[in-house]
Amino acid sequence: MEAKEESCVYKNRDAPVEARVRDLLSRMTLPEKIGQMTQIERVVTTHAVITDFFIGSVLNGGGSWPFEDAKTSDWADMIDGYQNAALVTRLGIPIIYGIDAVHGNNNVYGATIFPHNIGLGATRDTDLIRRIGAATALEVRASGAHWAFAPCVAALRDPRWGRSYESYSEDTNIICEMSSLVSGLQGEPPKEHPNGYPFLAGRNNVVACAKHFVGDGGTDKGVNEGNTIVSYEELEKIHVTPYLNCLAQGVSTVMASYSSWNGSKLHSDYFLLTELLKQKLGFKGFIISDWEALERLSEPFGSNYRNCVKISVNAGVDMVMVPFKYEQFIKDLTDLVETGEVPMSRIDDAVERILRVKFVAGLFEHPLTDRSLLSTVGCKKHRELGREAVRKSLVLLKNGKNSEKLFLPLDRNAKRILVTGTHADDLGYQCGGWTKAWFGLSGRITIGTTLLDAIKAAVGDNTEVVYEKTPSEETLASEQGFSYAIVAVGETPYAETMGDNLELKIPLNGNDIVTAVAEKIPTLAILFSGRPMVLEPPVLEKTEALVAAWLPGSEGQGMADVIFGDYDFEGKLPVSWFKSVDQLPLTADVNSYDPLFPLGFGLNCKTG
Ligand code: BGC
Repeated sequence: MEAKEESCVYKNRDAPVEARVRDLLSRMTLPEKIGQMTQIERVVTTHAVITDFFIGSVLNGGGSWPFEDAKTSDWADMIDGYQNAALVTRLGIPIIYGIDAVHGNNNVYGATIFPHNIGLGATRDTDLIRRIGAATALEVRASGAHWAFAPCVAALRDPRWGRSYESYSEDTNIICEMSSLVSGLQGEPPKEHPNGYPFLAGRNNVVACAKHFVGDGGTDKGVNEGNTIVSYEELEKIHVTPYLNCLAQGVSTVMASYSSWNGSKLHSDYFLLTELLKQKLGFKGFIISDWEALERLSEPFGSNYRNCVKISVNAGVDMVMVPFKYEQFIKDLTDLVETGEVPMSRIDDAVERILRVKFVAGLFEHPLTDRSLLSTVGCKKHRELGREAVRKSLVLLKNGKNSEKLFLPLDRNAKRILVTGTHADDLGYQCGGWTKAWFGLSGRITIGTTLLDAIKAAVGDNTEVVYEKTPSEETLASEQGFSYAIVAVGETPYAETMGDNLELKIPLNGNDIVTAVAEKIPTLAILFSGRPMVLEPPVLEKTEALVAAWLPGSEGQGMADVIFGDYDFEGKLPVSWFKSVDQLPLTADVNSYDPLFPLGFGLNCKTG
């Protein structure tokens, strides 16, 4: 009954956040507290589960399965349904719904898909990234979710890592600049922080999540979830620094990394999670575990889930992405508190942090979706922004053979042009992993413009565009009379460990396709990839021009904008491009630096 009284401090929107947190915490039972610390996966979520276990958070991990073609309003209906189930509990604490909106609201059909982070790192444009964050926040909120598991601020120290494209750069300073995504997602922090952290603007913003704390991009040989072997000084300088920028913007949540630091699993590391992040750096939000990360703690914890829960929560993890075995987690954590193995003070600290974020995010005042935001999903303005991001992210690696005459920009009124290659007309490939499905897909997976679509729209009325996915012998015969060819090859989609790759060869015979065409026709080769790949000598020698397009997303017109000269190239390499994989790891701060293209390299059409 008490919670229903209007006099409850926690229900008073004008009361200071800390007072609201304390008041609410003082009313909570242990099951209600542990429920807040539990995040479950959508596929096991029912309204009854939320209500009965006082669940604090729901997510859909990675992709949208089995909800692929749902309308944005269906998402909002589903999430609002969960929210209503939380609101009928005794204290009515809203859930916070999290998703991997890592390059736009990438799970939702028709959302604007921005370039993956590696491409954004090439733009070096802090303001652009902030605007992308703000656009993403609107499209996420429109679908009912409140929390984006972004940005990934990993320092990419070895491109063999399967998550390379989720990183902005190998360079800490560049990552720091690009971390402005936090302000875009959460809103600009006001000058005065009445409670020591910013308030989110509310309905148009989402909670951000800096991940994966810490050193995820620095593992030995780029092994995903591997071991980062560096001194504390180096860890701080290279890997911790981007978090300082996120904290300065008031980032509300941080996700712990699956990886280890000198053999210590981050999810069990009290020093890094509690002493460093919370105590020394003053992080006031909450730490979320990664997906099933407690189960992945290695021996001596791994064999016993109860022990993993104990180690992890005591190390400083506040909310656990369970995601399926919530009953086991709740049972074990309850038992650990009752036996005193996890102190009540630790539980209270975790719950205070979670409640603080929920208050700051305005969830108590605006728990349900504002349907007027639906019109922002994939809207013209956001697509224009995506297009701007694409054109700024392209890196021109070569323009004209042997620095003779420049090849780009191309003549849009040429008589006959060939567009070819595995990636010229594949929206799924263009978007990469974390688009509709966790591992990515092929084909017309959402609304967008492929490279081929963009070229067709950009050329003159009298220009004939011939498209062949795989160029045939006849097409390559000299009498066909092409003015030039645009060949697109690259990586096929992947996510996380499945992307670990020791060889970094362009799949689907990419080097061979480019070489075959370039031998016959003056060729611009465009590489779609989440990282530098092996460029074999014939590709480097025979093409006229070479562009790294990264994983540009749904707005392919941005590519036509620069290749036909409406805009010049601006992108600069966010990572060092190796000559051979034997050189890896190769970063600009090593002594014997001998890359194919150095960090920061990027030509334009004026100077070549
Ligand atoms: C990834 C995280 C992601 C989480 C939820 C994990 O596998 O490491 O980056 O946020 O899944 O989908």
